[in-house]
Amino acid sequence: MPRLTSVLFHELVHAAGGWELDAEYYENHFFGEKEGATRPNRNDLQQIIDDKYEGWWLYLDASRRRVMDLWKNDRGEFSQYANLQKFEEAVAIKSARERARSHPSETLQKGR
Ligand SMILES: [Zn+2]
Repeated sequence: MPRLTSVLFHELVHAAGGWELDAEYYENHFFGEKEGATRPNRNDLQQIIDDKYEGWWLYLDASRRRVMDLWKNDRGEFSQYANLQKFEEAVAIKSARERARSHPSETLQKGR
């Protein structure tokens, strides 16, 4: 069951203090699909957006779609390990939420 190893690794990154961007990046950096790594799903992407594109060691230059580390090293293209369409959908969800937050009178119900 290869997925177990990559999931455990992902969770170890969290246990070491890593945020979702760190865990997703390192999972997909060290494990391929054959080893059970999975690309960030919509919820993971939303978490990365809610984290303001930041991880503990990494950050996402969203406009350039590059993953950068604290030492300003370019770690690669975000779309190499993330489904870009899902990412753009998640960004659209986020900006809709922000619009709703900045114009609360226009929303019928508040989100969580
Ligand atoms: Zn995670």
